[in-house]
Amino acid sequence: MAEKHFKYVILGGGVAAGYAAREFEKQGVNPGELAIISKEAVAPYERPALSKGYLFPESPARLPGFHVCVGSGGERLLPEWYKERGIELFLSTEIVKVDLASKSLTSKSGSTFIYGTLIIATGSTVIRLTDFGVQGADAKNIFYLRDVDDADKLYEAIKAKENGKVVIVGGGYIGLELGAVTKLNNLDVAMVYPEPWCMPRLFTAGIAEFYEGYYANKGIQIIKGTVAIGFDSNANGEVTAVKLRGGGVLDADIVVVGVGGRPLTTLFKGQVEEEKGGIKTDAFFKTSVPDVYAVGDVATFPLKLYGEQRRVEHVDHARKSAEQAVKAIKASEEGKTVEEYDYLPYFYSRAFDLSWQFYGDNVGDTVLFGDNNPESPKAKFGTYWIKEGKLVGAFLEGGTPEENSAIAKVARAQPSVQNVDELAKDGLAFISKF
Ligand code: FAD
Repeated sequence: MAEKHFKYVILGGGVAAGYAAREFEKQGVNPGELAIISKEAVAPYERPALSKGYLFPESPARLPGFHVCVGSGGERLLPEWYKERGIELFLSTEIVKVDLASKSLTSKSGSTFIYGTLIIATGSTVIRLTDFGVQGADAKNIFYLRDVDDADKLYEAIKAKENGKVVIVGGGYIGLELGAVTKLNNLDVAMVYPEPWCMPRLFTAGIAEFYEGYYANKGIQIIKGTVAIGFDSNANGEVTAVKLRGGGVLDADIVVVGVGGRPLTTLFKGQVEEEKGGIKTDAFFKTSVPDVYAVGDVATFPLKLYGEQRRVEHVDHARKSAEQAVKAIKASEEGKTVEEYDYLPYFYSRAFDLSWQFYGDNVGDTVLFGDNNPESPKAKFGTYWIKEGKLVGAFLEGGTPEENSAIAKVARAQPSVQNVDELAKDGLAFISKF
């Protein structure tokens, strides 16, 4: 098969790829110079929609409605957008071999792509219970959620099992969002996770208490401190029950597993420097290999604000890292440089009529403020993280856009905190003082 040559290749067609393409267009790219190669059958889209609007019982979100860059309020890049600019989209094309030394990529069907500059944007894949040999985990109607195909399968099952029982395995944000959306679909929902409270990597006990109470009020059963150790299925191979460590059994027509992800770096093993499970980059997302950049979920980059290398699996970073890499590539071609990436971690989630945002670092002591009573008609509360006398992180449920940007500002500025009791009393008012 003939080789295809491109000045720039983006490997992966997710969030980062879409935002990188837009930045290439802004900076100037000639027709035929840029290609995006993606395993998925569709042009880049805003992945977070899959666990939210995509599964709504009424008027669910569907492509082309949420192609990038609508998530950040930008223009929607439809497949025609790429075509009109001579940006080649190779869809349903999985790269199975990468040779960074000869700058070549080989697809499953045997096509070879030669690049001048490569941007690795392969994102993450889900961790599967079958990876650990959990008994019965290959039964039908046990779902994971990473791409549109997964979401379509789950949506079909939700429609087929009307008023049925769903068990969500995992208490992270995917589990919480899926718990909410399956409940909105009138399913009988139970959630199971091993930790003492949900979202333990970010939430404090005080934050989690609100969400767990809220979910319980919606009729969602929460079972903590245990894990799924096996699954029963019927003669058709469809899951019927989840067996829990400790002996409990939950009936299930559908199981959705959200137990975390893993960055897709296997193709590059031994060819590029890695750190903390990702591909190590500098502040311009350049890897240890010349002309090779890595962005989004796979990049372990210098988080300047905290003086350490980190990997961040959030959509905001996927967008911004992609833009930074393209700016750096274009600048270096002209012998110029751009400013170092200076990222403020930002994460959000939405479920039912709840919406929270978090900025900064969740380390140190915490101060809970506001009304976190799940019975309140309009609960609004937050938490500050204080490390070495400075406010370093801020979380807010139910904030207005102005309040959310104010907590972002405060997390970036890291003001000194003299009196923690006063901060708790001031709560959100602290940001206006500041
Ligand atoms: P992805 O968007 O995952 O894109 C990677 C692309 O590479 C995919 O198209 C994949 O098919 C392709 N690919 C991988 N390997 C190959 C190969 N060998 N050959 C060809 N193509 C390949 N973050 C938030 O901050 N807030 C949220 O509310 C939120 N919700 C989410 C909900 C869901 C259901 C999921 C799955 C993620 C969510 N995230 C959220 C995380 C966020 O979507 C990711 O951090 C973001 O998509 C990362 O962008 P990326 O471009 O690095 O990877």
